[in-house]
Amino acid sequence: MAGENEGLAIGIDLGTTYSCVAVWQRNRVKIIPNDQGNRITPSYVSFNQAERLIGDAAKNVVALNPTNTVFDAKRLIGRRFSDPLVQSDKKHWPFKVICGANDKPMISVTYQGEEKLFAAEQISSMVLANMKDIAEAFLGFPVKNSVITVPAYFNDSQRRATKDAGTLSGLNVLRIIAEPTAAAIAYGLDKMSSSSDEKNVLIFDLGGGTFDVSLLTMVKSTFKVKSTAGNTHLGGEDFDNRVVNYLVQDFETRHKKDIRDNPRALRRLRTACERAKRNLSFMALTTIGIDCLYEGIDFEYKLTREKFEELNMDLFEKCIGHVEKCLKDGKMDKKSVHDVVLVGGSTRIPKVQQLLQDFFIGKQLCKSIHPDEAVAYGAAVQAAILTGQDNHEIRDLIWWDVTPLSLGISVNENEMRVVVPKNTTIPTKKEDAAFTNLDHQTGITFMVYEGERPRASDNIQLGKFVLSGIPSALMGVHKFNVCFEIDANGILTVSAEDKTSGKTNSITISNVKGMLSSKDEIERMLEEAERFELEDEEHKKSFNARGLLVTYVYVTRNLVTKVAASTEAIKIEDEIKQAIKWLDEHRVGKSELFENKTKELKSIWDPIIRG
Ligand code: ADP
Ligand code: MG
Repeated sequence: MAGENEGLAIGIDLGTTYSCVAVWQRNRVKIIPNDQGNRITPSYVSFNQAERLIGDAAKNVVALNPTNTVFDAKRLIGRRFSDPLVQSDKKHWPFKVICGANDKPMISVTYQGEEKLFAAEQISSMVLANMKDIAEAFLGFPVKNSVITVPAYFNDSQRRATKDAGTLSGLNVLRIIAEPTAAAIAYGLDKMSSSSDEKNVLIFDLGGGTFDVSLLTMVKSTFKVKSTAGNTHLGGEDFDNRVVNYLVQDFETRHKKDIRDNPRALRRLRTACERAKRNLSFMALTTIGIDCLYEGIDFEYKLTREKFEELNMDLFEKCIGHVEKCLKDGKMDKKSVHDVVLVGGSTRIPKVQQLLQDFFIGKQLCKSIHPDEAVAYGAAVQAAILTGQDNHEIRDLIWWDVTPLSLGISVNENEMRVVVPKNTTIPTKKEDAAFTNLDHQTGITFMVYEGERPRASDNIQLGKFVLSGIPSALMGVHKFNVCFEIDANGILTVSAEDKTSGKTNSITISNVKGMLSSKDEIERMLEEAERFELEDEEHKKSFNARGLLVTYVYVTRNLVTKVAASTEAIKIEDEIKQAIKWLDEHRVGKSELFENKTKELKSIWDPIIRG
């Protein structure tokens, strides 16, 4: 029996607020309930004097032990402490987050009477270990392998840290896949049809902590992600926060007391608000009642669905804004979308459904997939494919993730040379050529950037590496092959090879030093690319103009060197040296500057070279 189950793999949706585990069994997906009989388990870990609690047990004691009960680890994973998002999130958390080595955020708790520090991946590993336990208790044998999902916009660092969390939990992580892609897999299985018509599907995933919208094209049973958009900080918790803040103010008005200084009171209020929000998805009015909320004062408030919607309307509308952006990026008209799929617990909110339906001009939304389970469902299918447990029907499924921003290197004085364009499906491998841009250069620094701006320095630097020991030669003699490779987990390796000397070097964007941009940075980049379009156009023109001038000067030099010393051409050798010096002094400038210089030199040199 053990042998037979040895290769089995589970699919885990490691959610910000809730996690879910599923397995492929007897040709179908089984969502595995936890020991409480719940099909989703809170991504919570709580520490106390005697023990460590995980899941429902941890969430149940959150009000009693707020400073030592950790949640939202997914918001911290793979991020720096100084990240503005971490700084702003920190204010909402009752547990303490401090700055550790290398700007890494560390969660500080009191466990068994001592202060303990945990990295986000350690907390996530406890959640994952719990999901593994849930699966093993259900299956009755040990489970080794897994597929874990992450938000589509998780960068390299976040994916790596998630993978590390899996390894720490004792699981072998076969693959990290994007949540909307997983949901699409689940959706495709449900809807597998004989039709060969192309189908466009929009996945709208609004969970507890993140919002992802993805546009997929499905032909028979094959998915392709066309574009993705969303926000790492938009979800059920934000809706809860709005209600909490409103009620804190209400309490202050009524009792002249600010409950914000009492984490336990705040947590109890938040728990009650989340419950109220859930109720309001099914009823028009709900009562929030908490005994002895603060200094012995009882609290009661009747919250209507209208008030809840009013408090969150701008956030709901933001979601629709992201849908628009996703369609724009995917160059698709909303009328061409065949199906709109709801994923994530927060898509149960009637107003969200209504706004989305209105946006799609009254289109019926697909709610057939259980919103809390679709991601784990897809992960289990993926796991089955990878371990060969599947049947042929699902092996035909192929899917891709896409790069959210362009990736490239800095060439010729700060020009962004794109190697992997934005929205390229991954895994991918792309190559490009680069040259030395100085005479007698013996080392070249490759700087890797992510972004849409033509000036490399306006983009996000991911890392750099040096290729040294290149034999001395004139500029442009050495040709380098630059290769960008992104694996199925979204991890980027950039390598360069000097074609002349055979020297190579490479970089894998690492967890600590090079951080791929966060989703908010991605949004900022895309927004800036739009805002600075005109300015950027000028930069592009200037790079082109300078590039043409450089080429002209060096091509002329090569010609002059090749022709016999007796010819007229020798006369301009000095002028060429001057021109190279001029270029060195004018590394940046307006396009006209370079265009005029090119004209000037051409008018003198062309007649001579052409003889
Ligand atoms: P994640 O994947 O981000 O952890 P989920 O998809 O599991 O999130 O969704 C969790 C969120 O859904 C929570 O914020 C929860 O409050 C919210 N939620 C669950 N049920 C409902 C409901 N009936 N109405 C509104 N929100 C809900
Ligand atoms: Mg989710």
